[in-house]
Amino acid sequence: MIVELIGKEAGITFECIHIVPGKGDCSRIHPHFHYADVMVDGEFDDKRRIVHLYKLKAACLRLCSVFEDKILLANYPETVQKVVKEGSHLHIEINNKFYLIPEADILKLEIPSLNIEDLVIYFADELIGDLKKNGSFASFASLNYIEVTLSEGRGQRGRVRINLK
Ligand SMILES: [Zn+2]
Repeated sequence: MIVELIGKEAGITFECIHIVPGKGDCSRIHPHFHYADVMVDGEFDDKRRIVHLYKLKAACLRLCSVFEDKILLANYPETVQKVVKEGSHLHIEINNKFYLIPEADILKLEIPSLNIEDLVIYFADELIGDLKKNGSFASFASLNYIEVTLSEGRGQRGRVRINLK
C-alpha cells in the first residue's frame, strides 16, 4: 500500500539560491523553487493506516524551513570553488567570479555537488534522520521504503528510493 504527500499541494516547498560550476545561465547566482513529493510503501497497522501522515508532513516542513531563502553551498573541490571565511562572511570564488556573502545566509551542505541528484539524496537522508531524531520512526515501523522526488522547477526533478527494511 502506498501513501503520498504531494509537495505543491501540501506546502512542502522552499526557495533557495545557488551557484553551480560551469558556463552559461547556471554559472550565475540564481534561485530555484523546490517542492518535494514523498511516497511511502508499507503494511497496514491495526488502525488501518501505514504511516502517521501528520508526523511525516511535519518532518518535511521542518526540513523545508532549513532550506528556505538560503544560499546553498556544496563541497566542490578547491579547483572548482574556493571558500574562505572572512569574519562573519564567506568569500566564495567560483566560475572566475567572487562573492562575499554573510555566513548566516548560507546553508553549507556536506554533499559533493548541488545537482538535483545529490540534493534529493540529501533531502531524503535528512528526512529519515529527522524522523529518527524526533522519535517518529516507531510510527513508521511497517514501512518498506520511502521515495522522495525533489523538483527544482523548470520541469526538472530527481527521485530516490530508500529501503527501510
Ligand atoms: Zn540551478
